[in-house]
Amino acid sequence: MSGSEPTTAAGWLAKAEAFLAEKGVPEASVNAEFLLAEALGVGRGQAKAEGTRTLTRKETLRFWETVKSRGRRIPLAYVLGWQPFAGCRIEVDDSVLIPRPETEELVELAAREAESLGRPVHIVDVGTGSGCVAIALARRLPDAVVYATDVSSSALRLAESNAMANHVSRRVKVLKEDLFKPHSGAPWADVAVSNPPYIPSAEVDRLEPEVLKEPRLALDGGKDGLLHLRAIAGDAKRLVKPGGRVLLEFGAGQAADVRALLVKGGLSAVRIVKDAQGMDRFAAATV
Ligand code: GLN
Repeated sequence: MSGSEPTTAAGWLAKAEAFLAEKGVPEASVNAEFLLAEALGVGRGQAKAEGTRTLTRKETLRFWETVKSRGRRIPLAYVLGWQPFAGCRIEVDDSVLIPRPETEELVELAAREAESLGRPVHIVDVGTGSGCVAIALARRLPDAVVYATDVSSSALRLAESNAMANHVSRRVKVLKEDLFKPHSGAPWADVAVSNPPYIPSAEVDRLEPEVLKEPRLALDGGKDGLLHLRAIAGDAKRLVKPGGRVLLEFGAGQAADVRALLVKGGLSAVRIVKDAQGMDRFAAATV
């Protein structure tokens, strides 16, 4: 930082916005506001309202450190260390996918399907990552027990601490589980939900710089993007009891394939559900 430093919050905000815009960060001003709010320990609206206030040296250093990180195209949620999701505060780091707004709709869909069964349910969240889906479901369904599975130990540690911070650790059970290993024993879940990695391998490298900071393991769905969706659809009957439900999130152009995979897996009443943007995004089916 040079001699011509701003002193007020508004001045720093403008400087940060210009810096982030120059680095190609989309929505530079919104990002700058979030970072200032975090540095001041206030809400985003209040940060803007404090425009005439002089920042302390400590606040300035803290703010500019995060602005520089964001300028390196580190996603805002990683810089802040958390992301809001379905009314929960979900802590994130670069070992997990950042929860996406459309996945909140997956939670609502799964919650309604679970409620329609008319009994307390056991849910399995396959590939839980930060735990966002499992935790939001546990909060939404006070009688449900949710098994949050992943292959990544660092993701599971984060999921567990997120479950604790959101007061559902008693009903969110974190399990290291590999879907690609054969399952034995009788089906035990009432509902399976998953937002698996579904981006075709060759497309992953063409994603925005921010997305490339997220774990490849959480994005890459193999050659056709369907590797995990295929495995879940094929495994559903071994995992979920007859009459139970399966809810999946998938990517652009995958609806017909996902429908076919679920039918092939022996599931019935397969339906494709659009997200709030009008895109085919979710599949629901009965086991
Ligand atoms: N279930 C987590 C989420 O929806 C992680 C998904 C993933 O890693 N593909 O954010």
